[in-house]
Amino acid sequence: MNIKILSRNANLYSTQRLIEACKKRKHDVEVIDPLKCDLIIEKRKPTIVYKGRVLEHVDAVIPRVGASITFYGTAVVRQFEMMGAFTTTESQALVRSRDKLRSLQLLTKARLGMPKTVFSNYSKDVSQIISHVGGAPVIIKVLEGTQGLGVVLAETEKAAESVLEAFNGLQARVIVQEFIKEAKGADIRAFVVDGQVVGAMKRQGKEGEFRSNLHRGGSASIIELTDEEEIAAIKAVKVMGLGVAGVDMLQSERGPLILEVNSSPGLEGIETATGKDIAKSIVRYIEKNI
Ligand code: ADP
Ligand code: GLU
Repeated sequence: MNIKILSRNANLYSTQRLIEACKKRKHDVEVIDPLKCDLIIEKRKPTIVYKGRVLEHVDAVIPRVGASITFYGTAVVRQFEMMGAFTTTESQALVRSRDKLRSLQLLTKARLGMPKTVFSNYSKDVSQIISHVGGAPVIIKVLEGTQGLGVVLAETEKAAESVLEAFNGLQARVIVQEFIKEAKGADIRAFVVDGQVVGAMKRQGKEGEFRSNLHRGGSASIIELTDEEEIAAIKAVKVMGLGVAGVDMLQSERGPLILEVNSSPGLEGIETATGKDIAKSIVRYIEKNI
């Protein structure tokens, strides 16, 4: 099979592992930088020109499209779809997942648990906003943030007020969330491929840190999900329409609470923590669909 990995950087761990997994299973594989693709849109003959060469007979693509290139990256994935290629992440699902607010709205419709969240149009009535989620402490998140940057824990109502005022002044869109204290600075990441959990880890923030992101110094270890957690993860991915996803959840007194469904989840953390060959699962997912 002819498989293209859409990635800006062939040297990244995830990209390297996917190349290896494709080769092991005897597929032709090439890394394509989506930003270097020209898209030719015409009747019945959608074409992609990559560095002066027309891409032909592509069976499948594995999009690894980072948040900073969502717009162009999605257009490239869509073009491959028009050309009849299978994609492990559909363009529409990719776009949907990048809008955190819309994603949370969709997840509530599927009756999935999540921390209670408020969004307002730069409301000046800060104490009202905070009271909607049960008062301080609260979590304040910039909508476009990733890797834990732009996530703030405001311990008191006063602190929350000043943080919200600062973000409002910068015209940064934020959500305010109830703080789930029982999570104790940890979260769980379930890696889902083709509707199945293929690996799960618990990430623990470093001492004194409420954010468990590996990029913020957190550490990861393998865990066995409860049935409730597994079902929630699978359902969340289904609602989002993703073939490959990382579901982040908090463990709370009222069961798993979904934080986010990541459409370009990294392989390094999960493969290291679990010892599982996640790249292979992704390649097998392609094989099953072609
Ligand atoms: P990002 O997408 O930037 O990683 P997240 O929403 O996943 O942002 O938040 C980063 C981390 O902060 C999470 O992994 C979790 O450990 C912690 N966290 C986020 N929201 C809450 C919350 N409502 N209550 C407690 N901890 C939270
Ligand atoms: N980018 C996410 C984080 O900072 C996920 C990393 C990963 O999947 O290893 O936690």
